[in-house]
Amino acid sequence: MTRLALVAHDDEKPEMIDFVESHEETLAAFDLVGTGTTGRRITEETNLTVERKESGPHGGDLQLGSEIAAGTLDAVIFLRDPMTAQPHEPDISALLRICDLNDVPLATTRQSAEYVLDGLARDAGV
Ligand code: PGA
Repeated sequence: MTRLALVAHDDEKPEMIDFVESHEETLAAFDLVGTGTTGRRITEETNLTVERKESGPHGGDLQLGSEIAAGTLDAVIFLRDPMTAQPHEPDISALLRICDLNDVPLATTRQSAEYVLDGLARDAGV
């Protein structure tokens, strides 16, 4: 089953909820994992269930990076806030790097997320 990670910075969480609601049927066919707060909000506010890692500032991004190193994640959608410095910037950089290293698709904006999801759905035949 396709395994997709969902992460959103605080400013981008409403956008993430809107994205997930817009694609609920497709996403229901995937195994979803996310950082703590993003995962909780999606689980509470939509009909989908997200496996929750720690919150981003408490190591959630690193836990996702570890899955990428282990080859268990197919893609990451990480809606980032480009205007606000994050306390866990080194962890975020590590996540981006391990995606690059393993050629794991990573979308950091709504539009790129739409394209990545289209590709995943096509590959999965959903
Ligand atoms: P959060 O983490 O979902 O726990 O807020 C996201 C992040 O990395 O900022």
